[in-house]
Amino acid sequence: MTLAPNGNAQGEASVPLHAWTPRALYIHIPFCTNKCFYCDFNSYVVDGQPVDAYLDALEKEMEQTARLLPPETVRTVFVGGGTPTVLDPRQMARFLQAVARHFPIAADAEFTMEANPGTTDPAKLEAMLAGGVNRISFGAQSFDDKLLAAIGRIHEARDVVNSIANARRAGFSNLSIDLMFGLPNQTLEQLADSVSRALELDLPHYSLYSLKVEENTLFHRLYERGELPLPEEDVEVAMYAHLRERLGAAGYDHYEISNFARPGFESKHNSVYWRNEPYYGLGAGAHGYARGIRHMNIKGVQPYIEAAARALPRLTTDPVSVREAMEDFMMVGLRLRQGVRRADFAAQFGGTEPEDVFGEVLTKLQSQGLLEPFGEGEAAGYRLTERGVPLGNEVFGAFL
Ligand code: SF4
Repeated sequence: MTLAPNGNAQGEASVPLHAWTPRALYIHIPFCTNKCFYCDFNSYVVDGQPVDAYLDALEKEMEQTARLLPPETVRTVFVGGGTPTVLDPRQMARFLQAVARHFPIAADAEFTMEANPGTTDPAKLEAMLAGGVNRISFGAQSFDDKLLAAIGRIHEARDVVNSIANARRAGFSNLSIDLMFGLPNQTLEQLADSVSRALELDLPHYSLYSLKVEENTLFHRLYERGELPLPEEDVEVAMYAHLRERLGAAGYDHYEISNFARPGFESKHNSVYWRNEPYYGLGAGAHGYARGIRHMNIKGVQPYIEAAARALPRLTTDPVSVREAMEDFMMVGLRLRQGVRRADFAAQFGGTEPEDVFGEVLTKLQSQGLLEPFGEGEAAGYRLTERGVPLGNEVFGAFL
């Protein structure tokens, strides 16, 4: 059978994309060793948490999901959190066995697990490998120990280096690390040093994020009191420019606003989100998108466990209007440096062209020098200009 780029049979091309069965699976493990000062993710300090009962509940959600929306071959799996690697080797093995029991995973699927430095010993890495994981994304954030402590991370720079070495020894080669910039009191020199240390690891993929001060975090409370010494805006702009320059010079393709990869190592799972394609979302607080409906699961661990015993543990279930889906398509698609193709937009929305819906916005953004057309015919589309890249949020917001 010939497959369209999203993994569906080409004969299905006239069906609106969001009606198709997801080929991507996200699973959330909401436990962490501690709570970082900037974190608003759905994560809880693992001490005293009912981890095994949570894994039981997760399996119940897998069963119910597979019954209600029977999976076809899954091409990408992403286990995020939280810190999935706080599971011990036994829990890791049983969790991954459950995933394989309920979802048919393609032999060449990209199977990513998030990890924190210092949480991956050889026994756990072995369980991950045996369970099908073939890509690890480590939350390194910085190679400056003082900065790491100041943002509430419990690892040190050397833990990152050791964790990467352990992962390589265990047989993982598809590895990524996250780095953060715009941290309190962070200087451009400190960032430059972290980038050098990160590049010494010679990884195929790097994700680079600026700190966002989110509500309900310690950093937000400090910020409100004027006690969070963030770098000035021009310094943060210079940091992003520095990251782009260094990663580019080292041969990495800046394929998405925050992501850099060697050819062939772009995140396939995240590309599903950026192309606005459907995905299963399981676990406490997880989001999913299938058959034109977005859902968010119940966030608390115990409420999630109790709800999953009865039915799908949903907090919200919202049908997505065509207009909303179009806005999402443009906003997430333009994060990719290759931009959005007009033909892909038309395929998702029954032949409608982006200009039919966003004509004025597209013209305005082009006149501002933030967006540019590319290609011809089937390959034609829109992408951010060089000038538009650091102003991406402004561009994405224009489609709402
Ligand atoms: S490790 Fe990640 S998910 Fe856990 S508290 Fe820190 S930032 Fe949040």
